[in-house]
Amino acid sequence: GGERLYLGMDFGTSGARFVVIDKEGTIHAEGKREYPSFTKEETMDWAGSWRMTLFLLLEDIPVNLRPLISSISIDGTSATTLIIDSTTGEPLSKPLLYNESCPDALPIVKSIAPVNHTVCSGSSTLCKLVSWWNNDDSNRESALLMHQVDWLLWLLHGELGVSDYNNALKVGYDPELDSYPPWLLSQPYSRLLPSVRAPGTSIGHLKKDIRRQFELQMKFYKYAVVGLPDDCVVCTGTTDSIAAFLAARATKPGKAVTSLGSTLAIKLLSTSRIEDARYGVYSHRLDDKWLVGGASNTGGAVLRQLFTDQQLEKLSKHINPAEASSLDYYPLQSVGERFPVADPNMQPRLHPRPESDVEYLHGILESIARIEAKAYSLLKDLGATQVDEVFTAGGGAKNEKWIKIRERVLGLPVSRAIQTEAAYGAALLALKGVQGN
Ligand code: ADP
Repeated sequence: GGERLYLGMDFGTSGARFVVIDKEGTIHAEGKREYPSFTKEETMDWAGSWRMTLFLLLEDIPVNLRPLISSISIDGTSATTLIIDSTTGEPLSKPLLYNESCPDALPIVKSIAPVNHTVCSGSSTLCKLVSWWNNDDSNRESALLMHQVDWLLWLLHGELGVSDYNNALKVGYDPELDSYPPWLLSQPYSRLLPSVRAPGTSIGHLKKDIRRQFELQMKFYKYAVVGLPDDCVVCTGTTDSIAAFLAARATKPGKAVTSLGSTLAIKLLSTSRIEDARYGVYSHRLDDKWLVGGASNTGGAVLRQLFTDQQLEKLSKHINPAEASSLDYYPLQSVGERFPVADPNMQPRLHPRPESDVEYLHGILESIARIEAKAYSLLKDLGATQVDEVFTAGGGAKNEKWIKIRERVLGLPVSRAIQTEAAYGAALLALKGVQGN
């Protein structure tokens, strides 16, 4: 009996967060930590730093809540890859970070994968694997590939070689077939690939010896994770951007999240899978649905070049969102756009600039809203479920006038997402892992 709680953790680029929720989604505790930096960037022990942060976050959970935690899940940066020793679980080399590129492997990957496949990018997990395979021949026999999340979860549950189909997409996993494709399975390094389950699937119980093991691993820092129940379940995770989508709880087809950060990114829950390399549009599986995504180069970065956040707030107050602006811009930081128009030569268009800054900002916000509308309409043309409601995340979400402008331009209900933290989405996966659904 008694209240049960669910723990989600998000491992981002510079630090990690945790959120503890109950089954209604109410937050009971949250916190964050920067990654400790042992040394300079080049010699940074990333794996050690993530591991330490994982246990520090567990220690940050209020002692009285710990015994109530039924399950744990984690999200991490997509395509962050570790090659580990299958007997010890320890990394065989430096982790390859999400944005690291392995150009040496790209021609090889392109020669085996279908044209325009997600793995055909130098920073894909598969390029990282192939690059390692071709440069290290001493440890091939004992090696296993793990995504950042798989490894962190492994530290908690102890079963090697388990991943989720969101993280595994960039190593070539086919979420529609629900297996690795034949062109990948025929490669000698396919032995290194993890087995794949749905995000938010129970893997096993928290390791009984986790407390002692942690003390042994941390030679200098003697923290002990006291009070988490032994029957606490550890569940498969997802990527950080999918976890952020899950946080908004847009669970029905037609619900979407627009992220108005430095760039404009949209994610739409659809009953059909959409892939179009021209526009950089692709889909992640979420159970029986598809999360269709696309990213434009327009967004808040251009606003930041022109106005401070304080100016944005002040000028926005004077905008009448019910009135259509006749100014037609295409705000870009540099030349080139991918989605919803695929044109590597597209020029930024921010002129003519009116006398009034209020009018100027109104024109820019409205132009970005038109690009957003075009983005959703392109997804529909490509075959996705039609959008019927838009939630908003990112720095631009706090602008109420912009939300009103977007409602008019999109012709849809638009609101700010109540939760946008990826860690909250991971906590929902932990909940899913023990509830089913
Ligand atoms: P990212 O994480 O992608 O760098 P954030 O989600 O933190 O970005 O959002 C930052 C962006 O939000 C900035 O580019 C800034 O111009 C924009 N922004 C901040 N305040 C406002 C506002 N009141 N109205 C519109 N945009 C804003």
